[in-house]
Amino acid sequence: MRNNFNLDALVRPNVKAMEPYSSARDEFTEISDDLVYLDANENPFNTGVNRYPDPHQQKLKTILAKQRGINSSNLLLGNGSDEILDLLFRAFCEPKTDSIITVPPTYGMYKVLAGVNAVRNKEVLLTSSFQLNVAGILEAIDETTKLIFICSPNNPTGNSIASEDIPQLLASFRGLVVIDEAYIDFSKQQSWANVLDEYPNLVVTQTLSKAYAMAGIRLGICIASEAIIAVLRKIKPPYNVNTLTQERAIAELESINDIKERIHLIISEKELLSKQLLEVNFIQDVLPSDANFLLVRVDDANKRYTELTQQGIIVRNRSTQPMCDNTLRITIGTPSENKRLRTVLKNME
Ligand SMILES: *Cc1c(COP(=O)(O)O)cnc(C)c1O
Repeated sequence: MRNNFNLDALVRPNVKAMEPYSSARDEFTEISDDLVYLDANENPFNTGVNRYPDPHQQKLKTILAKQRGINSSNLLLGNGSDEILDLLFRAFCEPKTDSIITVPPTYGMYKVLAGVNAVRNKEVLLTSSFQLNVAGILEAIDETTKLIFICSPNNPTGNSIASEDIPQLLASFRGLVVIDEAYIDFSKQQSWANVLDEYPNLVVTQTLSKAYAMAGIRLGICIASEAIIAVLRKIKPPYNVNTLTQERAIAELESINDIKERIHLIISEKELLSKQLLEVNFIQDVLPSDANFLLVRVDDANKRYTELTQQGIIVRNRSTQPMCDNTLRITIGTPSENKRLRTVLKNME
């Protein structure tokens, strides 16, 4: 199936008509110690943070692009990937007119952002094995549908979405397919960012919050065609990634081997914990996970959640999500935290 994708037709008319806000740092980007900057009403006295941050995060993007084997021009950074998801709504979805498709049980933020932006959210449940109901999604698409959100590996179920199901959506949908890869670094699956050139309507989001251990600095990554990135750049707040975030991310990314080592440790702890949890008599099932958490099915989630809390262990009760009755989502901790979890669970039998 050929996709006659037309980005221009997808962009909201008000966004299409806009010129991006041009900040002082946009008009003059050359950074040199010899220059006297009297253009942005900044305080001239050096505190380390008296200057506005680079609105295009050139240095950070260069490092990220190199590490991910993609071009810097295919990147847009945000204040967490949650900001990027919001920018996608604001660029492509007309409030009170347009719609999106989500595939629960999945990350709750897509629905929240649909609500905030007054965009209708059509839900097509995952199958019983937590895979895409491709026929159902294709049927739910109509002329108001602008975005389809797919989370892979999926939160809260932990599984990856079968890669053979996604090209069909990309080929037949004239809106954007957004693949949220917040957990991709824990997975053996290839990132969809590697095949960006094949799909003009593909958007991939990633984050430094999980595998990269930087949730506190808020740095999200959007990977898409230059044309899509150009639309998002038009509407992004100019200084959405602050100086401290840019500097800290650059510093941490220099120790990429430490980051990878922590990822490997989390994965091996997950594999160990997964086996151990199955030995707990009130845990009925531990779902296979490509992420840094395990979804477990228990006899009575509310009861077990309360008992764990009383023992000082906080997990997430996901029971209200469709097809997730009596499930708890447990993030993989340090080896000693996981050991404590196991002891507490054994004592609860
Ligand atoms: C944690 C999470 C995010 C949030 O990422 P931030 O970059 O911290 O905003 C996005 N998507 C999914 C599926 C997540 O689980």
